[in-house]
Amino acid sequence: MSHLLEVRNLKKYFPVKGGFFRRTVGHLKAVDDVSFNIPKGHTFGLVGESGCGKSTLGRAILRLHEPTGGDIRLDGTDISRLNAKQLVAHRRDMQIIFQDPYASLSPRRTVMQTLLEPLEIHAMGTPESRKKKVLNLLDIVGMRPNVLHRYPHEFSGGQRQRIGIARALTLDPKFIVADEAVSALDVSVQSQVLNLIARLQRELGISFLFISHDLAVVQHISHEIGVMYLGKLVEVASSTDLYKEPRHPYTKALLSAIPMPDPDAREKRMILQGDVPSPLNPPSGCPFRTRCPEAMEVCAQGMPELKNIKAEGTPHQVACHLY
Ligand code: SF4
Repeated sequence: MSHLLEVRNLKKYFPVKGGFFRRTVGHLKAVDDVSFNIPKGHTFGLVGESGCGKSTLGRAILRLHEPTGGDIRLDGTDISRLNAKQLVAHRRDMQIIFQDPYASLSPRRTVMQTLLEPLEIHAMGTPESRKKKVLNLLDIVGMRPNVLHRYPHEFSGGQRQRIGIARALTLDPKFIVADEAVSALDVSVQSQVLNLIARLQRELGISFLFISHDLAVVQHISHEIGVMYLGKLVEVASSTDLYKEPRHPYTKALLSAIPMPDPDAREKRMILQGDVPSPLNPPSGCPFRTRCPEAMEVCAQGMPELKNIKAEGTPHQVACHLY
C-alpha cells in the first residue's frame, strides 16, 4: 500500500525559560519521537486527552510549528527539509480544518471572498473559472449558491464548519488535518459533518489526519487510529483491531469511557484516575505508569518501545511492557 504521508521520529520541543535572564532551563516535549504512515485516501484518527500533544503533532506535520527533529514525507517529498520559499509550492497540497470555524473565518469577508482568496493568492485559473470553482465547492459541501454574499455571523456552527471545509478544499489538497473539527458542534450536526468528511475522503481520495479527544467520533471515520499520551504514540492499529482488541491500558480506559447501553459492559468499565501528568515533568519510564492499573516495577525503569505485536495481517503496534 503506498503511503501519502510518512512521519519518522518527529519531535517538537518547546523551550522553557526561567531565571532572571530568561535562559532556557528545560524543554517541554509536546511531540516526542512519533512515527506513523497514512496510506493514500485513508483517514488516520489521532486520539488522546487534552494536552497530549495531538494538535501540536498535526501542526508540526503541516510545518505551522517548526519541528525540532524528524522527517515528514508528503507524496514522496521530504517537506521537513524545505526552506520557506520551497514550502510555498507544497502548501496547497496540505490544508487544515480548525475546531472553531467562527474564529478561523474573517468576520468581514463574505463566503465568496473567503473561498476566492486562496485561488487568487495561488493565481489559479481565470476570474470566471475561480467563480465556477467556488460554486462547485459550495455544492460539494452541501450549501446553496444564495449564501455567497453572506457573512460568517449569519450561519449556524454546522454551516460555518461546511464553509471551513470548502475553504480547505479550494486548492485541491492531497492531505487535510482536521483538528477537533466537530468537537464544538451539537451531536446531530456532528454526524452530518462527519458524513461529509467521510464522503470527501471516499470521493476525492483525500487523506485525512483526524484529531479528536473522542474515541467514539474517531471510530466512525478512521481506517487506522493512533492513541497518543504525553507526546508519544502508545498504540497504533486498524480501526477494527483497536475497537475489538485494544491492548494498551490507556486505550482500554479511553474505550471504556464511551457510553454503552449494555449494563454488563458498563460494569467492566475502567475509570481513569487522576489527570495527565505535566509534560514539563513526565514520569520516568512509561509515561502512563502513574495512572495505569497494571503498572509493574519495570514500568518505572524504561520507556517501552512501540512495536508490532501481530504476526499476520495489518500491523498492531503497542508501547507497553506487558507485550
Ligand atoms: Fe502500564 Fe507498564 Fe504498560 Fe505503561 S508499560 S501501560 S505502566 S503496564
